[in-house]
Amino acid sequence: MATDANKFQAIISHCKEYGFIFPSSEIYEGLQAVYDYGQWGSELKKNIKDYWWKSMTQQYENIVGIDAAIFMHPTTWKASGHVDNFNDPMIDNKDSKKRYRVDHLIETKAEEMRNDGRNDEADGLLDEMDKLIAKDDFDGLRQLIINRGIKCPISKTSNWTEVRQFNLMFSTQIGSVSDESSEIYLRPETAQGIFVNFLNVQKTGRLKIPFGIAQIGKAFRNEIVARQFIFRMREFEQMEMQFFCRPGTQKEWFEYWKGERQKWHLSLSIPESKFRWHPHAKPAFYADNAGDIEYEFPFGFKEVEGIHSRTDYDLKQHQEYSKKKMQYFDSEINQNYIPYVIETSIGLDRTILMMLSEAYAEEDLSLPTGQAGTAEKQDSRVVLRFPSKIAPMKLAVLPLVKKDGLPEIARKIMDDCKSHFRCFYEEKDTIGKRYRRMDAIGTPFCVTVDQQTKTDDTVTIRYRDTMQQKRIPANKVREIVQQSIQ
Ligand code: ATP
Repeated sequence: MATDANKFQAIISHCKEYGFIFPSSEIYEGLQAVYDYGQWGSELKKNIKDYWWKSMTQQYENIVGIDAAIFMHPTTWKASGHVDNFNDPMIDNKDSKKRYRVDHLIETKAEEMRNDGRNDEADGLLDEMDKLIAKDDFDGLRQLIINRGIKCPISKTSNWTEVRQFNLMFSTQIGSVSDESSEIYLRPETAQGIFVNFLNVQKTGRLKIPFGIAQIGKAFRNEIVARQFIFRMREFEQMEMQFFCRPGTQKEWFEYWKGERQKWHLSLSIPESKFRWHPHAKPAFYADNAGDIEYEFPFGFKEVEGIHSRTDYDLKQHQEYSKKKMQYFDSEINQNYIPYVIETSIGLDRTILMMLSEAYAEEDLSLPTGQAGTAEKQDSRVVLRFPSKIAPMKLAVLPLVKKDGLPEIARKIMDDCKSHFRCFYEEKDTIGKRYRRMDAIGTPFCVTVDQQTKTDDTVTIRYRDTMQQKRIPANKVREIVQQSIQ
């Protein structure tokens, strides 16, 4: 079994070998921190998106979805604070010429301290860092790095430059004239598309507070340090929901959404022990409360979803910059006000990495469990134990041999199922090899059509996780799979 240290590498290789995720423009040596989803990765991604969308917009009657454009008027980003504040303090090592995010260097040091059992020292270090970041004290941050003996992981030296701020937004030009007035940004978060449409949606949807607006879409950040596969990308997708509530009620809604989102994560069949809640000691300047849902990736606990109580900051800012009223009239209390907002923001790609990390298993199969004569007797297998509802492929239909009318019967089963869920048909290779390939992409069910099917209309269903097989009527296949993916 892969240890945690090499499990991450094994997942990356597996994703490439089995058509989940490829480096972008790989034939040109790739583009750092940009990835393409292949045939199974894109199915997995779509299933997770659909599951989130359904969970948010269908399960809660007071949440609706939108799909806003990536390009927005440049003033949006001035108003939101991104032009002035969406910066990360960075430091360069003069020997390796590598650039690092200051908070990442310090957090890695704190993690090492924890691994040595020096928990108090690690907490102290992080507290000190938070205070210096809050004061924009860059000299102090540099001193902290030097005093704590933090070295460049490549050159192993402490030959550091000054700490500088880098804005993470990508910009480009709109229209044919490239002058300053045509500069436009690729959105670094999807949230602002929701805020600027707040009244459009509220009025046309006749929505009453409290209500939410959900959105799934691409976001772009010029991440300086980006080497954790799809954990930190320059082009990624977010699934966000902004919940508009009455001022003064934000505390209780924050707790409510924290609970609801934690339940959602557990509904992906991940044990509770793999999650932890990380409250922010000092929330961002626009928030009065914030925290992260962290998952234990093979490289440690890291944020998957952020929950922020964003106050009325964004709507107020847009009101000021656009000179358009962002107020809501609350007929219950007969008052106009700018609503407060609770945001739940989860990275789609990080959720995919979480699901891959959870599902990936290398298993020793020295004991034969399958039918006599099948290759279930192989020594080992790699299996992705995805919950059926998000598995890229739900069912494989496999005629045991390519003759005797078996492919025709198998095709009929395909026809009965393929308009209901994603199915895969394959007749090449031994049945054992075909099972292995389905395990490797996480297909929960395989059905095999054999000679007996011709006499009694039964097929063998084989379960991915237990590898157990049993005979069932061929006309029950669709129902069994459908039940498991609901
Ligand atoms: P981090 O501290 O890891 O940079 P963040 O706090 O800046 O993340 P948010 O701005 O709260 O992240 O974004 C919400 C979610 O979007 C995050 O929880 C994460 O899942 C996802 N996300 C943010 N940046 C990236 C990225 N560069 N690549 C992939 N997903 C990302």
